[in-house]
Amino acid sequence: MNAGSTFLQCSVNRNAMKHIGKKAWGILVDRFMSVMMNIPYPTDDKCWEWPNVKSYGVLSTRGTRIGAHVLSFRLFSGQVPHGMFVCHKCDNPPCCRPDHLFLGTCSDNSLDALAKGRISIQQLRRASLAGGRTRRKLTDAQVKEARRLHATGWGIRSLERKYKISHRPMWLIIHGETYK
Ligand SMILES: [Zn+2]
Repeated sequence: MNAGSTFLQCSVNRNAMKHIGKKAWGILVDRFMSVMMNIPYPTDDKCWEWPNVKSYGVLSTRGTRIGAHVLSFRLFSGQVPHGMFVCHKCDNPPCCRPDHLFLGTCSDNSLDALAKGRISIQQLRRASLAGGRTRRKLTDAQVKEARRLHATGWGIRSLERKYKISHRPMWLIIHGETYK
């Protein structure tokens, strides 16, 4: 997993917000469902991966393109408000599983800047942390303990459950990006 992957996996597809006509939407949903129906139904919380892609799955018809994960979010969870992005809790771009997706608030500007190489992923992450979205959630002793447990083989998911915090802050704590 590369540093800052949560940001990179936010959808930068502006079509995510675009209105899609009824007819095109129907075609896209049919295609999406026919692919999803071929995925063995997982009973645990495994990802539902779009086949044969390393990054996002993409669906298109008549000039309308949409990320498969974005379509999944719109279909099962609702609209993507302007300025919001569909991100992966699981850090796995091909994944279309609705409960692995969430709306992120990366701003267009930051993503533009990132795409054009004006800022680095580290700067973008620092800016987002400074924005107050990551409150201090653990004491120093808990952070030490969490890192020690991680070193002895505890997965991030188990640590999230133990400390009752969500994936991204836990990941950042474990990888030393917060609580330095
Ligand atoms: Zn997933």
